[in-house]
Amino acid sequence: MKRSWKHINAQRQGRERDLGTCQICGSKKHTEGHHLIDFVFGGAADKDNIVTLCTECHKNVHKGLIDLFKF
Ligand SMILES: [Zn+2]
Ligand SMILES: [Zn+2]
Repeated sequence: MKRSWKHINAQRQGRERDLGTCQICGSKKHTEGHHLIDFVFGGAADKDNIVTLCTECHKNVHKGLIDLFKF
């Protein structure tokens, strides 16, 4: 299964909902969509599964330094 246009679309919708603002630190620089549940683990292609993060916080989330489910 490949990442479909639905995922790209969901990422865009998630960023629009978050106004391109990092949901952890509030930065608007270099933000990108992060899948709360990756689609390979059954995460939905839905904006509810996307959170906008800056590259710095995104890195920390993937390192396990930030637990997103607290937010
Ligand atoms: Zn951030
Ligand atoms: Zn991510």
